[in-house]
Amino acid sequence: MEGGLHDRDRVGVQDAVLLEDYLSEEAFVNNLERRFKEHLIYTYIGPVLVSVNPYKDLNIYTSEYIKEYENRNFFETSPHIFAITDNAYRSLKQEFREQCILISGESGAGKTEASKKILQYIAAVTEHRGVVEKVKEKLLQSNPVLEAFGNAKTNRNDNSSRFGKYMDIQFDFQGLPVGGNVINYLLEKARIVNQHKGERNFHIFYQLLTGATEDELSQLYLKRNLRSYYYLSHGGDSNVDNIDDAQSYKEVRQALTTLEFPDEEQNDMMVIIASVLHLGNVGFSEEDGKGKVTKLDAIQNISKLLGITESELTHALTHHTIDARGDVITSPLNREQAIYARDALAKAIYDRLFSWLVTRLNDSLQPENPKRNVVMGILDIYGFEIFGKNSFEQLCINFCNEKLQQLFIELTLKSEQEEYLKEGIEWQHVEYFDNKVICDLIEEKHKGIISLMDEECLRPGNPNDKTLLMKMNDSFGCHKHYISHEKADIKLQKIMGRDEFRLIHYAGDVTYNINGFLEKNNDLLFRDLKEAMSHSTNKIMNSIFPPGEYKNKKRPETVITQFKTSVNELMDILMDKEPSYVRCIKPNDLKQPSIFDVDLVKHQTKYLGLMENLRVRRAGFAYRRIYEKFLHRYKCLCKETWPNYRGEAKDGVQVLVNALGYDKEDYRMGKTKIFIRFPKTLFETEDAFQL
Ligand code: ATP
Ligand code: MG
Repeated sequence: MEGGLHDRDRVGVQDAVLLEDYLSEEAFVNNLERRFKEHLIYTYIGPVLVSVNPYKDLNIYTSEYIKEYENRNFFETSPHIFAITDNAYRSLKQEFREQCILISGESGAGKTEASKKILQYIAAVTEHRGVVEKVKEKLLQSNPVLEAFGNAKTNRNDNSSRFGKYMDIQFDFQGLPVGGNVINYLLEKARIVNQHKGERNFHIFYQLLTGATEDELSQLYLKRNLRSYYYLSHGGDSNVDNIDDAQSYKEVRQALTTLEFPDEEQNDMMVIIASVLHLGNVGFSEEDGKGKVTKLDAIQNISKLLGITESELTHALTHHTIDARGDVITSPLNREQAIYARDALAKAIYDRLFSWLVTRLNDSLQPENPKRNVVMGILDIYGFEIFGKNSFEQLCINFCNEKLQQLFIELTLKSEQEEYLKEGIEWQHVEYFDNKVICDLIEEKHKGIISLMDEECLRPGNPNDKTLLMKMNDSFGCHKHYISHEKADIKLQKIMGRDEFRLIHYAGDVTYNINGFLEKNNDLLFRDLKEAMSHSTNKIMNSIFPPGEYKNKKRPETVITQFKTSVNELMDILMDKEPSYVRCIKPNDLKQPSIFDVDLVKHQTKYLGLMENLRVRRAGFAYRRIYEKFLHRYKCLCKETWPNYRGEAKDGVQVLVNALGYDKEDYRMGKTKIFIRFPKTLFETEDAFQL
């Protein structure tokens, strides 16, 4: 606000709290648009940072910018991801308060880029010396590795994260980064075996095939031709304009080396990646209802790469063994079942490799002296999703967002309340929608959607998606946030299928299609395949398919229950941290700069809950400022305070506001800050100041 790099930042208001018409979505979006057109992509709602993806390099992350934000008061500078980061970092360093920065937004909105800027800022403002520098290097290098294995080109984003990520940076008592830890959530493994038109598989496959040397490829029995691989064939053209796969491959290998993955281990990883590609090329025919492997060279390659005999591999891909109370029965699979088993295996291998990678990365990021460190967590996780067709994955993601909204309500109201208390100002009750009722509908023990789904998965007999939906409709038919086809009004019935149900989420209504729910939740991998994999001589395969696993009779937990557990653990991690929020918005669907699609932004404003944010923030006092700062800025407006007030700043401010004729109801004097209820009051003061 006050000169320097920020002279331009006088367009619109930089804090939406200052909007006169703060209940109007129109006014809010219009403000974002005006700023966006001036390349001002950041705007606050109080302490929340809203970021609109510019889709071009704006030159606002340079070292000059870093200097500008370092150690500056949050409100003295214009809105920026560096300001949020600096604020969090200072609170961590000076008050030892653990921090978390929660980034949300839809695919392509800029979450991952924001998380990288946070890391960039921290790396820049902390000491550049030996050990610390090495830790920072590792933290930074973990990104290209995770992205190679966990990101893919989608129609929404050329570098879309297909997993949720919580990363924390650990700092010692001096505020120096000493280590880190990553937790991953739900990798979209269906992508391994199938891609939509125009999309790709995970980057690493293309990187390996284009970037590896001839020697390396021949050791993996791979051809450079991408079209040779069935698992890469579904999306069509695999070239992406601004992705250089060969170059990325070099960077990923280099990053792995920085992260202290020995060459041998890196090779073991590539062997597994190659095996997945070969697995996709295994074909099946059918004779007398029995599936038979047709592409023997693919089997031979996998067998040589993983050190599993061809016969065991072939048998495991075409048979299914069950252990029914001690009776071990093996039966053949037909062609369709064998294909299903092959795909399930490919997905399981990749998914486990990814989790292994994260664990291994964490070993490398583990601080040397994990004493009492203070952490700053960064959450980069899929935002609320409403597609044309919504399935099991969307339910998981939207459930996670409901939980994050719960946390947001709790923490925001709590911190508002705390500040009022600290400043000695009476708290005002704020009406808001508490989405606990939806969280309960989904996760409540014995009663919620998740427990019903698990029950149906485990039920003997012939449980299927239809029976699950019937049970859900019976149980939740009367719930305010659940609509079955039967209960829907006529208009809704027209757009809702009989195999669908609808949930009224805090961010909007979503219709889910039940098909595939049970199968995805069960996520079955036949024990024959687990057993075969456990015989591999590849060290990583050994650890991701441990020998005893296939004998374990206890059913593994269902996918959604595992997810629920990890989301609840995440809530516990976040709960006792001081939060900062970054809400990312995508201005258009074309991945293009300078286009601001008002309807699209309105849509996101709604399901990011931004208007609700604003309302809660405005329910109390719109504006607050430390007495010294307030006095410093406006002292020239009053004879008694100009050029200097001799006395306590608080008294000076009182003299000043009396002179300005503030109404008693329009402001409160806290212990260290003045609180102003309406922006109008402040604008009038600003106007007087400009005259
Ligand atoms: P997903 O949920 O699919 O992972 P995301 O929210 O993580 O999406 P990003 O990958 O961070 O989205 O951003 C998508 C693209 O938008 C980036 O590859 C980059 O081209 C552009 N972009 C995002 N943020 C910025 C920024 N601050 N400045 C310039 N370009 C940006
Ligand atoms: Mg991302």
